[in-house]
Amino acid sequence: MSSIFSKIAQGEIPCYKVAEDDRYFAFLDINPIAKGHTLVIPKKEVDYLFDVDAQTLSGLWLFAQKVAKAQQAALPCKRIGVAVLGLEVPHAHIHLIPLNSEADVDFKKPKLELEKEEFAAIAESIRARHTA
Ligand code: 5GP
Repeated sequence: MSSIFSKIAQGEIPCYKVAEDDRYFAFLDINPIAKGHTLVIPKKEVDYLFDVDAQTLSGLWLFAQKVAKAQQAALPCKRIGVAVLGLEVPHAHIHLIPLNSEADVDFKKPKLELEKEEFAAIAESIRARHTA
């Protein structure tokens, strides 16, 4: 059975897509801790990030780098923070989180509640600055 993230990458479950190539996919986290909080995944389904084969994992970080640069250009932030949790969804992913302070990377604080239009506008703004 496919993971929820595989279904998202295959277009079976909707998402706010940020970037895609033949091996990787990036989309907005549906319960963001900061505006523009993005998840990047390999399309190949592996539960835990550090079990992903070396070639796919290194490609994922290069893909994440381009997404982070697009986030940085699209959103007012000092840095793009990185987190790996994987406690909820068993499909390897990296969280890319626009940061202005340490507090912006607190996963325990209440999630942002954004309107659909705002999610769509953020995703579009990052997509427009992403270079393949
Ligand atoms: P983790 O597995 O890293 O602990 O957490 C999974 C992350 O995926 C959470 O931040 C959660 O908000 C996000 N997430 C879970 N299900 C969905 C979904 O169906 N769509 C999107 N866009 N994000 C999701």
